[in-house]
Amino acid sequence: MSKVNLKGRTLSELEEFSLSIGEQHYRGKQLFDWLYMKEASTFEEMTTLSKPLREKLAAAARIDSIELVERQASHEDGTTKFLFELSDGKRIESVLIPPRTAFYSPGARNEEEQKRLTLCVSTQVGCALDCTFCATASMGILRNLTTSEIVDQLLQVKKLSGKRITNLVYMGMGEPMMNYDSVMNSTEIISTGMSIAARRITISTAGWVPKIKQLADEGRKIKLAVSLHTLDDTARSNLMPINRKFPLSDLLDVVKYYYGRTKQRVTFEYILFDGWNDREEDLRQLIKLSKTIPCKINIIPFHSIKFIHPTGISAKLHPTPHRRMGEFVRRLREAHMTVFVRSSAGEDIDAACGQLAVKVERRQQQPRKMTTVSTTTHYQPA
Ligand code: SAH
Repeated sequence: MSKVNLKGRTLSELEEFSLSIGEQHYRGKQLFDWLYMKEASTFEEMTTLSKPLREKLAAAARIDSIELVERQASHEDGTTKFLFELSDGKRIESVLIPPRTAFYSPGARNEEEQKRLTLCVSTQVGCALDCTFCATASMGILRNLTTSEIVDQLLQVKKLSGKRITNLVYMGMGEPMMNYDSVMNSTEIISTGMSIAARRITISTAGWVPKIKQLADEGRKIKLAVSLHTLDDTARSNLMPINRKFPLSDLLDVVKYYYGRTKQRVTFEYILFDGWNDREEDLRQLIKLSKTIPCKINIIPFHSIKFIHPTGISAKLHPTPHRRMGEFVRRLREAHMTVFVRSSAGEDIDAACGQLAVKVERRQQQPRKMTTVSTTTHYQPA
């Protein structure tokens, strides 16, 4: 019988596992605490369990881990990027983001803000959505991460950094809603077993409508962010192909529905592109939106990446200059909107939003040889 991996199993799954090996139900909770709270990586460490039980567990099960390949810290702001290798040799990145800088963010200096340490996790190897501005898109989609691999990003970064992580964002590589079950299981494990409350966990989606509805119906306490970027339907379809499948009208309807069911405000993420979505009419549309859907806005500076095919729309996308960005934010706030501005954390190490991509070198010819990089060099089809 092959051994099963216990990491990534929820409490009820661990209880089921205990029964399946002829142990009592309550052993499931003991395993849950050892795996997630006490961060055991072997059965020998589980010293509250008898030696014969530990041996029995080791014979039936295993505890998988992802492996650190490289760690890079930003000289500018302390953001740290971790590159991990999975058991099949594929690679993903996670980013540890220090407290928000005071940049444009009122309240950024308050005590809670200063203690905030956010981990940004990946949910897929690559991504299928092909957003024109995003580095991960260049990888295509290789596969979904397992619950174990998602939870382990947090376990490993805690261990490697020795720090208390207070917040979690699902904004790394991949589209969380396209790996819904593993993502939700991971949030359940983390919020109940690893001291990060559900309200400190945010899932970000490019707009996968049916799963937003499911999330609303399930009554989970985690927070939702939606990558909006423009309120012009045609422009959004050019920017994000997902908009052809789920157009803005459907997306905004489901966000309204989400608010109706959960009474939680959604955060709209909005990357500012110079002369493209930072004009007067864009401001007007955003302000109008905030009158119909209770929401917050997260303004994101565009982190230029080198595009594989710098043609079409991506050639036209440039960051909005600093001053114009400040003006845009000021105008939104004047209209009583709640606006955050994401700092350019980790830009010098390509660890900023949308800069995560792992280069797969000449995949077809040398399947095992994979080298990492950040986005400055891209996967070139062999
Ligand atoms: N697929 C999900 C989560 C991953 S992307 C989503 O689309 O929301 C996380 C955030 O980074 C999204 O808001 C995305 O729009 C933003 N992002 C992607 N590429 C970026 C870039 N080059 N510069 C700034 N933000 C970027």
